[in-house]
Amino acid sequence: MELWYTEKQTESYGITAKVKETFVTEKTDFQDLAMIDTEEFGRMLVLDGMVMTTIKDEFVYHEMVAHPALYTHPNPKHVLVVGGGDGGVIREVLKHPQVEKAVLVEIDGKVIEYSKKYLPEIAGELDNPRVEVIVGDGFMHIHEAKDKYDVVMVDSTEPVGPAAPLFERGFYQGIFEALKEDGIFVAQTDNPWFKADLIQKVNKDVKEIFPIVRVFAANVPTYPSGLWTFTMGSKKHDPLEVDETQIPEINTKYYSPRLHKAAFVLPKFVEDLVK
Ligand code: SAM
Repeated sequence: MELWYTEKQTESYGITAKVKETFVTEKTDFQDLAMIDTEEFGRMLVLDGMVMTTIKDEFVYHEMVAHPALYTHPNPKHVLVVGGGDGGVIREVLKHPQVEKAVLVEIDGKVIEYSKKYLPEIAGELDNPRVEVIVGDGFMHIHEAKDKYDVVMVDSTEPVGPAAPLFERGFYQGIFEALKEDGIFVAQTDNPWFKADLIQKVNKDVKEIFPIVRVFAANVPTYPSGLWTFTMGSKKHDPLEVDETQIPEINTKYYSPRLHKAAFVLPKFVEDLVK
């Protein structure tokens, strides 16, 4: 019997993948969690019916959350990742030798547990001694931190359930205060085909708080529409003023020194959303 997983991305459109094996389907304290193996994308973490990450294309998203911000900051020592319990962003953050400590605040301990078990290629650095893993609410953590981090990365689910507060203006204000005087933050901000309103709202809120705001995009095949945006807010350093000839070639598959500024060149309809 053939089994297919379909993510309903809007009321009338979805993506679908043939399932080889289902490892976990569980209602955690926060969300519905599934871990499946698919023929095309390999193992896949699904939360509340939405693809979070897959073995085949995870590198795009994780590299693009981590590297543009870390190569914009001249000396990122203390990094916070909000969400991201699969460990992919942490793995990329640790490729930067200046980072002394990376804190991960993930609300759902089950995401960490099952990612370590079924996605070791992604979660493999979560036990690294430079990493502190906190199972807790990123919103609360941000509001308790002051002048503490060089870079904050928001690797959250979509703005429903526990992640809804992570898309509010008050959260971005909290991040501004949690950052040091030349700090940078970056957040995944969904796709411009079906979530244009969200991108515009985040852009407006972040512009009211941070002096430098830039949006960049990447191609993630398993996310709705495949075109994904990220919003960066910075107190001092501009990603577009980075001398990319000084960025070292590190072990990546999507990000490169050539892509650093190029990723900020948006298709016109996306550019119009964030003018
Ligand atoms: N890359 C994914 C995407 O955009 O589809 C998101 C990765 S997934 C690992 C995001 C994580 O954020 C989930 O594990 C979820 O439990 C966590 N999360 C949601 N709300 C949170 C909150 N308030 N504090 C901390 N983590 C949260």
